[in-house]
Amino acid sequence: MPVECEEVEGVMDINRIEGKKREIAEAVRTLAGGGILTLTLGHVSWRDEETGNILILGHTHKKDKFLTDITEEDIILIDGDGGVISGNYDPPGEVFIHTEIYRARKDVCSVFHGHPDKCIAFSLANVPMFPVYYRATQFFPEVPVFDYAGQINTKEKGRECAELLGDNAALLLRGHGIITVGQTIQEAAVNAFSAEKNASLILEASCLGEIKPINSKDLHAHRPTSVWPYYVDKYDALLKRSIQK
Ligand SMILES: [Zn+2]
Repeated sequence: MPVECEEVEGVMDINRIEGKKREIAEAVRTLAGGGILTLTLGHVSWRDEETGNILILGHTHKKDKFLTDITEEDIILIDGDGGVISGNYDPPGEVFIHTEIYRARKDVCSVFHGHPDKCIAFSLANVPMFPVYYRATQFFPEVPVFDYAGQINTKEKGRECAELLGDNAALLLRGHGIITVGQTIQEAAVNAFSAEKNASLILEASCLGEIKPINSKDLHAHRPTSVWPYYVDKYDALLKRSIQK
């Protein structure tokens, strides 16, 4: 008996969404293993261009779940305003970071938010975070800073973040953390690793003397995702446990 087209499309859609849930879970574990996501806090999301719906890590922080143990079952599906469509959790309190950036940036399909130490140090100093690292040229000329240390737990605050982010790949939140974006989950995640590395290199180099940013003529557009499998291999705790078995 021939399979109805609609039925096949439905199965394809479910497979596509389930695949993206696994990618988000892998990104969360890897970012947590690499120290970019700290404690039980922070989140990664993906926007489905076909429906406008968003997959995001649920509010697992409420249950004190370690981010190194996140699986696809911890990812929830929400609509473009943050309303839950399906999943085992409420959305994170700062869901508005994600919904408002997606509303403003049609080119962005993934958003990361976390609280890595070196980025927070930069958000506090009156020193611009400019690219000094060849894998951080996407942050040229510098990462803007949102001068607000509270939770981004309203639509208005989310909109302010989106406005200040503009066309940039990252936004520092003073005394709080960083937001990075990308066309893919892997790009947003690698941008988070690259921002923390760039901040760390400036801090180290500043002990040696004056720092010169990368010359703008040496910048070239590059998608940094080629290093993603390296990060997964090094930091994904679930992957490491399955290899050890
Ligand atoms: Zn936060």
